[in-house]
Amino acid sequence: MNSIPYARQYVDAEDVASVVEALQSDWLTQGPTVRRFEASLSERVGARYGTAVGNATQALHLSCLALELGPGDRLWTSPNTFVASANCARYCGAQVDFVDIDPATYNLCPKTLAKKLADAKRRGTLPKIVVPVHFGGQPCDMRAIAALAEEYGFSVIEDASHAVGAELEDSRVGSGRYSRITVFSFHPVKIMTSGEGGMATTGDAELHSRLQRLRTHGITRDAAAMRSAPEGGWYYEQLELGFNYRMTELQAALGLSQLGKLDRFLLRRREIADLYRSLLHDLPLVLPNVRTGVKSAWHLYVIKIDRARTGVNRRALYDALQRKGVLVNVHYIPVHLQPYYRDLGFRRGDFPEAERYYADALSLPMYFAMTDEDVRRVARATSDAFGELH
Ligand SMILES: *Cc1c(COP(=O)(O)O)cnc(C)c1O
Repeated sequence: MNSIPYARQYVDAEDVASVVEALQSDWLTQGPTVRRFEASLSERVGARYGTAVGNATQALHLSCLALELGPGDRLWTSPNTFVASANCARYCGAQVDFVDIDPATYNLCPKTLAKKLADAKRRGTLPKIVVPVHFGGQPCDMRAIAALAEEYGFSVIEDASHAVGAELEDSRVGSGRYSRITVFSFHPVKIMTSGEGGMATTGDAELHSRLQRLRTHGITRDAAAMRSAPEGGWYYEQLELGFNYRMTELQAALGLSQLGKLDRFLLRRREIADLYRSLLHDLPLVLPNVRTGVKSAWHLYVIKIDRARTGVNRRALYDALQRKGVLVNVHYIPVHLQPYYRDLGFRRGDFPEAERYYADALSLPMYFAMTDEDVRRVARATSDAFGELH
């Protein structure tokens, strides 16, 4: 029998045709299709501006630079994330620290954040930037985080790599209502793809032009932004040190075409989550818990072994499912336990909730093209594994 991956892109004939059309057009590098993708995605998430880049890691890096993070500054994020959410600070020469997670949602805990901020204020070690990560597609408690940002004077960058199309109580993730910048990823395992790709959305015109400039070497062609009068039609100025972090027209064409399917993608993911819940609720598992009032984009379906009800451990369950062709995964190894971060002084025990979560967590397959039968097969395999292992 075929194995079932944990995630997989869905690319149809319409997507292929859009990419071919871009390939045959006058522009291959950043051009009109990138601008259309920026406008369409921003509109979809309710943001004023969007800057498309080669991946979300680049978007995080540029966002930190646009907010002037540098040596001597601090960025705080969740330990339960992909390393990129923290690495962006290191690219800027800043220090990283983490805020432990809420064991109910696996997202950065606002109460823990509040305590840590009060402490940091006394010590004079407040962060310049906090990066909440909408883990698995479930939005963080942005109202609480934004209130703390106001009180303590830090900027918020939302890492919404898992959360294209997710919704808060009163707004869409990415609208800029609760943060300076929101970052999305279009890596093939995510909700929609552009091959590789990322976007930084913002409601702030100045931040937007900074992001646009940093994406292209720090160069401007806008006479109003130049130090000197233009010397002719060819003239441009490099105002600061930027990068070549541009998205191609091919990527944008795929992204735009995928964006047209986003509502279908989100709907199907929710159906799969509902089906998993109905099939798994009798097993000794903790199933995902979505806060009332918010809408998850269901990037991941994470189950946790319920230690109170079974002696089966995560490693054994992972191996048993792999043997049955159900290619489960684990999100995430706490970032502070990575050797690179241990070398910076972090240790086991620093963020106990993220570590406890990690010990029991498993991501079941979740992707648009999964059939109900695939979902049933995963649930059966999980149930059989418990039967064999207990
Ligand atoms: C995937 C991911 C990233 C990085 O995205 P890329 O587009 O691969 O650079 C950053 N943060 C989180 C939480 C992610 O899941």
